[in-house]
Amino acid sequence: MNREELYQKHFSDWPRYRAGQIFGALFEPRFKKWEDVTTLNKNDRNLIATRLPWMSLEKRHVLESARHDTFKALLATHDGKMIETVLMQNARGFWSICVSSQVGCAMACTFCATGKMGFTRNLTSDEIIDQYRFWMYFLDGRHDLEQRISNVVYMGMGEPLANYENVKQSLKTLLEYTEMGPTRLTVSTVGLLPMLSHILKDPEWPPVRLAVSLHSADTETRKNIMPSSYDAFLENLEKWTKEYFERFDSKRRHLTLEYIMLAGVNDTPMHAKKLIQFARRVGKVKINLIPYNDTKSRYHTSAGGAFLNFEKTLQMAGVDATRRRTMGADIAAACGQLIVEEEKTSNTKP
Ligand code: SAH
Repeated sequence: MNREELYQKHFSDWPRYRAGQIFGALFEPRFKKWEDVTTLNKNDRNLIATRLPWMSLEKRHVLESARHDTFKALLATHDGKMIETVLMQNARGFWSICVSSQVGCAMACTFCATGKMGFTRNLTSDEIIDQYRFWMYFLDGRHDLEQRISNVVYMGMGEPLANYENVKQSLKTLLEYTEMGPTRLTVSTVGLLPMLSHILKDPEWPPVRLAVSLHSADTETRKNIMPSSYDAFLENLEKWTKEYFERFDSKRRHLTLEYIMLAGVNDTPMHAKKLIQFARRVGKVKINLIPYNDTKSRYHTSAGGAFLNFEKTLQMAGVDATRRRTMGADIAAACGQLIVEEEKTSNTKP
């Protein structure tokens, strides 16, 4: 059970403002354990400490990039599963956190390191939120670094929409207890259309940003590199985008399509043409071109010239295309490089 459910179970007769105090305390960097939460009386604190776990994850190690702008943490769950989360400085100089939503992933995208691990289990909403809290405490211990966390992206290990309820709960908690608004949270998906459709019907799904990993607007190419794809995918995605813009009709609303640049695979003039046509049909879409980060696979990132050509071709056609900055490649913390092995039972505890 996650903390919300445990609270309902044990403290449902407490006044609602108390829940706010208790959950709020989890997002105060100066509190490091329940005993520190002196805004609650001692009896309540002790009772809560026996009922609600303070932290669901344990640090194994943290890697720091040479430029001190990217950090990658290896964290263990209570059942000994290992996950990674990344802290990276964004263009505004604040921090973006990349969180994992599952241990491993079932989507098996051929270019992704996590895809090679297979799927182990979903993370609970506590385990997702606690990745954010891990970095919050980390920064509190590093006053040489900027302190503000301004964004969270669900782009770590796993497919967030395959863990819908826990991801939704974690988004709601982050929106309630941090300063981040919905446009500061981005959920990236391989494009699970049944779940994307579900979002449009779910009144509780918060209006966060969505990014869809397109990677090719050519059916055969997409099927080759992403086994979860199928013949009618592009057509169905296009239909869904129309409904998405109807449901979330706002000037600020847009959709991001992610596009990894794989040399000779999806970066030819034919692929650019199909992507332009697709983007035009969809409308308010941003294309985010991602340099491919090495994962010891058969792929290479598009060469400088081919990359630039592709990008310019899109821009000349009036498509809003930008290139994603690559961070943390020296510590294998970049997109698609997150992979961990199961922990051996003995000798790893600190
Ligand atoms: N399951 C989600 C989140 C995955 S990670 C999804 O599919 O969107 C976030 C992005 O990184 C996805 O677009 C993913 O396809 C991409 N990615 C995976 N491996 C990569 C690699 N080696 N280099 C660059 N991007 C990669």
